[in-house]
Amino acid sequence: MSSLLVDDIGELVTNVAGSGAGGPLGLRRDVALLVEDGRVAWIGPTRDAPAADRRIDAGRAAVLPGFVDSHAHLVFAGDRATEFAARMAGRPYTGGGIRTTVAATRAATDDDLRATAHRLRAEALRQGTTTMEVKSGYGLTVADEVRSLRIAGEVTRETTFLGAHVVPAEYADRPDDYVGLVCGPMLHAAAPYARWVDVFCERGAFDADHARAILTCGQAAGLGVRVHANQLGPGPGVRLGVELGAASVDHCTHLDDADVDALAGTARPDGTGTATVATLLPGAEFSTRSPYPDARRLLDAGVTVALATDCNPGSSYTSSVPFCVALAVREMGMTPAEAVWAATAGGARALRRDDVGVLRPGARADLVILDAPSHLHLAYRPGVPLIRRVLHDGVLL
Ligand SMILES: [Zn+2]
Repeated sequence: MSSLLVDDIGELVTNVAGSGAGGPLGLRRDVALLVEDGRVAWIGPTRDAPAADRRIDAGRAAVLPGFVDSHAHLVFAGDRATEFAARMAGRPYTGGGIRTTVAATRAATDDDLRATAHRLRAEALRQGTTTMEVKSGYGLTVADEVRSLRIAGEVTRETTFLGAHVVPAEYADRPDDYVGLVCGPMLHAAAPYARWVDVFCERGAFDADHARAILTCGQAAGLGVRVHANQLGPGPGVRLGVELGAASVDHCTHLDDADVDALAGTARPDGTGTATVATLLPGAEFSTRSPYPDARRLLDAGVTVALATDCNPGSSYTSSVPFCVALAVREMGMTPAEAVWAATAGGARALRRDDVGVLRPGARADLVILDAPSHLHLAYRPGVPLIRRVLHDGVLL
């Protein structure tokens, strides 16, 4: 059994409410953290730190749980930089460009898809993301969805079947038939490689009846539910997700009072239980020049909020959680503490995980050492590479 001591931590974000200086981040000062066999084994005052096989000096910097990015699309081919440039020149985003990536993904070799997924996973890890959800959804045939999920499974255990991303062109005039394919042969082939099922419930993608059919079939196949909901306009996605006990409804940009009430009704004040998390993806609003979701309204209503990147080649080609934290603070009414919590513990809740997004004995030894004395700097110094070291599964990268 090998041990590693992270010594001389100036500020430790534990996300254990009620510990140390209190607040949702459970801040502790002047502590050390011992790792044994990939898990946190001990946290205590620096002066009491036990001996260890290896020691790394944090130099009084801030240490926080590794980011939990609970929404990403990493299995695809090609990019859509030209589409982005056209949007910045005034063309609106409709989601129609997804079909461009579907065509490129179908034409790509396994090795091409694999190389992109691994490159982006490594890019995210360097920026402090130690847990990452990865969706299929650019194959949209039985074979292409299965290979997308197999490749996703090489970079994460949090894999999501998103056969219902859009109706592919060859089914454009018979969407019912495509839903039948997704619920039948595609789900049957994909489920062994997926932990979650997701659907893009939006005008132009899948309506409430189709989304309900797909999510219900996915649940029956043993998958947990997540929903792309209320991104481009008001719609039924959020309430459908709540009704089906979704772990997360994602985007939540256009909500009415009933949507907010439904989400708040799933949360318990102590944060336990199975709340449906509202996962906000400000990279998408940034990259489509759209109004940001109102995080303040959700937080004030008691909704559990997560922040994630939505990393994808069309509407949010960033793998940087710190960038999303900065956007959430500047544009969405979140405090730095709320945004850091949402990007760590919030993401873990959105994946129904209690072993990540938190630093306490028994948790996974996934953490980042900042080049900064406080978590505040993640929003205070936007665009600056503040991730000095990353510890993933107890291994120092
Ligand atoms: Zn997405």
